[in-house]
Amino acid sequence: MVLDTFRLDDRVALITGANRGIGQAIAIALGQAGADVALLGRSDPAETILAIEKLGRRALFVPVDLSTAAPQALAEAVETAAAGLGRLDILVNNAGIIRRASAVTHPTEDWDAVLRVNLDAVFHLCQAAGAVMLLRGKGKIINVASMLSYQGGIWVPSYTAAKHAVVGLTRALANEWAGQGVNVNAIAPGYIVTDNTAALRDDPEREKAIRERIPVGRWGTPDDLAGAAVFLASDAACYVHGTVLAVDGGWLAR
Ligand code: NAP
Repeated sequence: MVLDTFRLDDRVALITGANRGIGQAIAIALGQAGADVALLGRSDPAETILAIEKLGRRALFVPVDLSTAAPQALAEAVETAAAGLGRLDILVNNAGIIRRASAVTHPTEDWDAVLRVNLDAVFHLCQAAGAVMLLRGKGKIINVASMLSYQGGIWVPSYTAAKHAVVGLTRALANEWAGQGVNVNAIAPGYIVTDNTAALRDDPEREKAIRERIPVGRWGTPDDLAGAAVFLASDAACYVHGTVLAVDGGWLAR
């Protein structure tokens, strides 16, 4: 039955940056769909662990700082997650940072930090998790893109460059791995109420301008991303490869 193909019973997911924001909502949704979840990040995700365990699923914290971890450390983190929970079926590259400064004043350290967390770590985690999945001939990778995978944004050149690249990487990996049973896709959230967008929402003019441009007429919430993530992680999406699923209240349609 088709609804059964959306279930993730006894699958194991690894997600980055799930102690708060969008990652937390996706991690809990994966648990609700039946998965056990490894939470890779630099901050204790105690609240997320509690929520997943309340669902009767297992949760495992894998402490890693994505801004400093070498590729080998990321490969070891993938191994730790797979060993700790017994297998690895799903990777969600969610963690991300944003630094706002005009192009001419954009500090080099901000450029480096954003590219390291939002792109380099995504690639190295895809490499390591992809290798495990290719061996089994099955797996799902979901990268979190952005509206700034399509548009230039204002004062966020490093973020925009990284998020455009995440889409290119998603397509490149999908081309390589689709024939070997591994689905690589992306979700592009619209404007979502999290710490990432606090600066925009704190500016009444920007907040209003953004809200009024969203066809649905409101900012998104982290839970708005849950259905798309579970879908792409599930067998229901078995023929979906290299796509970018916008969850944006209609922003891109405008
Ligand atoms: P958020 O609330 O700021 O959460 C960011 C997450 O990334 C946190 O869990 C954070 O952990 C983690 N993270 C940041 N730097 C890290 C590092 N060096 N090592 C490990 N983890 C790190 O942001 P969000 O809005 O949920 O963003 C989640 C994803 O969605 C990001 O990729 C973001 O670019 C993307 N996105 C967001 C929006 C939006 O409107 N909010 C729109 C489009 C795309 P700490 O708590 O330790 O910092």
